Amino acid sequence: MPAPRLGAEHAAVYGGTGTRHRHALVPTVHYTGSLTVDTEAMSVSSSLRLNLLGLPREHLARQFELWGERSFRATQLIKWIHQRGVTDFAVMSDLSKGLREKLGEVAEITIPEIALERRSDDGTVKWVLRLADGNAIETVYIPEDDRGTLCISSQVGCALDCTFCSTAQQGFNRNLTAHEIIGQLWLANNRVPVPEGRSRAVTNVVFMGMGEPLANFDAVVEAIDLMLDDNAYGLSKRRVTLSTSGLVPALDRLGDITDVALAVSLHAPNDALRDRLVPINRKYPIRELLAACRRYTRDGGRHHRVTFEYVLLAGINDQPEHARELIRLLRDVPCKINLIPFNPFPGAPFVRPTEAAVREFERLLGTAGFVTIVRRTRGDDIDAACGQLVGQVEDRSRRAPRMIRLHAELPAPAGVRL
Ligand code: SAH
Repeated sequence: MPAPRLGAEHAAVYGGTGTRHRHALVPTVHYTGSLTVDTEAMSVSSSLRLNLLGLPREHLARQFELWGERSFRATQLIKWIHQRGVTDFAVMSDLSKGLREKLGEVAEITIPEIALERRSDDGTVKWVLRLADGNAIETVYIPEDDRGTLCISSQVGCALDCTFCSTAQQGFNRNLTAHEIIGQLWLANNRVPVPEGRSRAVTNVVFMGMGEPLANFDAVVEAIDLMLDDNAYGLSKRRVTLSTSGLVPALDRLGDITDVALAVSLHAPNDALRDRLVPINRKYPIRELLAACRRYTRDGGRHHRVTFEYVLLAGINDQPEHARELIRLLRDVPCKINLIPFNPFPGAPFVRPTEAAVREFERLLGTAGFVTIVRRTRGDDIDAACGQLVGQVEDRSRRAPRMIRLHAELPAPAGVRL
């Protein structure tokens, strides 16, 4: 397909929005009178058209102004894309013919391609999505009586090396762009039949798929912007949950911008054990992490509480003494606790605890006054359970540790194995 001619105003979007696209593998275009294109980035991009799918309303409005159009067009376009699921400009009847044609030349609305769609007996749906550069990510839809939760990925692979997570075994390739993140929500809403009494299939989004969302800060924040925008998905902040292994400075930054629900992958009641299970703990130990959680819930947890996730690993962190230590640790933190019995994957060095051990752990926390939920496995017949998402990742982490440090502000992967 011949590349459309790009005007200066188009190039300005790439150059003019600061770091927004720096991590994203969209073409880096510098307008200097003639058009220069970063050829390495080009090789992973399907086209030079600007993909409008991931642009929050403010960015889109600015883009329309650069095109010499009125900024309210952004609201119209966002409704077409995200509420009506329309990706063809020609169909957008409240835009002028001239604008539709112009958009067709310089822009596109491209959704990740579905490589595989699997439906579990329990109604869970898993998609493997093929990205323009050949990598694949996974997204999972989990239906319940009163809600539909979408578990989305934020990176291709993950650099954090948590020892119990199969995504970590894949290594890390790159951050997702905002359009690749919001594209997962767009797809699910357009693929899953809307249950009776609801306007959309997806009512809740959790950043609990592949990747560490806070290591892909800008794109994740842009995607969240669209999720919360009434003209797009209109989800309330309580229905969008960001799950993090604990990148403290990024968590503070997030708190400055938004207050979506927060889940923190704790998994251990002390630093010695957490250092081994979640290696980022060596950089941001539990005390610092809990202080950041308190800062995030500035109101002292009255309006929303942090959810701590605790994967139960037989004989490692599931003993009554671990529960008691956890109770002491979290005594003054307004929180909920999600216990997740370990989901095995090939080669995993851990075992799922017995039902009795899970119950006892839950009982001890409950007796101490903690709201505790045992997350029952969904979709494990299609490898869609927590920690089982692997996609298809061309691992660049071992070959390019410098890049990971840039992306995730991390030390080079520690390669910790128990
Ligand atoms: N990087 C972010 C988001 C990924 S979601 C984070 O760490 O929070 C990761 C969650 O999936 C973890 O909290 C953990 O609860 C869960 N998880 C990962 N591997 C698992 C496994 N093998 N079994 C059960 N849960 C797992």
